[in-house]
Amino acid sequence: MFNVILFGPPGSGKGTQSEKLIAKYGLKHLSTGDLLRSEISGQTALGLEAKKFMDKGQLVPDEVVIGMISSAIDHNDKITGFLFDGFPRTAAQAEALDKLLDLKNASIAIMLALDVSEEELVKRLMKRGETSGRSDDTNESVIRARIDEYHAKTTSVADYYHQFDKVKMIKGEGSIDDIFLALCQEIDTRL
Ligand code: ADP
Repeated sequence: MFNVILFGPPGSGKGTQSEKLIAKYGLKHLSTGDLLRSEISGQTALGLEAKKFMDKGQLVPDEVVIGMISSAIDHNDKITGFLFDGFPRTAAQAEALDKLLDLKNASIAIMLALDVSEEELVKRLMKRGETSGRSDDTNESVIRARIDEYHAKTTSVADYYHQFDKVKMIKGEGSIDDIFLALCQEIDTRL
């Protein structure tokens, strides 16, 4: 399996680039944000619990998302690899992911980290909120809270993968195609 993490703050373009990457490399897209929103729309117990955190721009507890990813990995045998989007978001999630992949004799090949300035992020998220139907994109204080959570908890995930020399920073501003090309160049060196 060839497993990639697409990393970056909310609004950095992970969703857009994920679509293009899974099409090109035949990877299975696992987005914890999408999985959580589908639990919410299905009104499951997990969804109702997660919504309380998501509405405030806070991270959902580790055990909830780790359980969700663990079952998604188990239900996707015989695939080329995973593209993880929005996960891991804490060092504990990163360690849990390594253990889950280890059970399948697999590992993370590379973490691609999109770098975008805070002002650009807020602008993009407010704009996405006009059409996405996502309540967490319409309120500027929730947007700022998500970016703060990213700086407080999520940046440590990059340190975790740095120790294994698996992190590549990519400039996430510019044209979608140029950013995609830069991501592909990094992936191709590790294939
Ligand atoms: P964005 O990256 O634009 O914030 P996501 O769709 O990835 O959007 O996530 C939306 C929300 O879902 C997050 O603000 C957080 O509350 C929750 N969430 C998603 N992934 C995780 C995760 N791995 N750990 C904890 N919470 C998560």
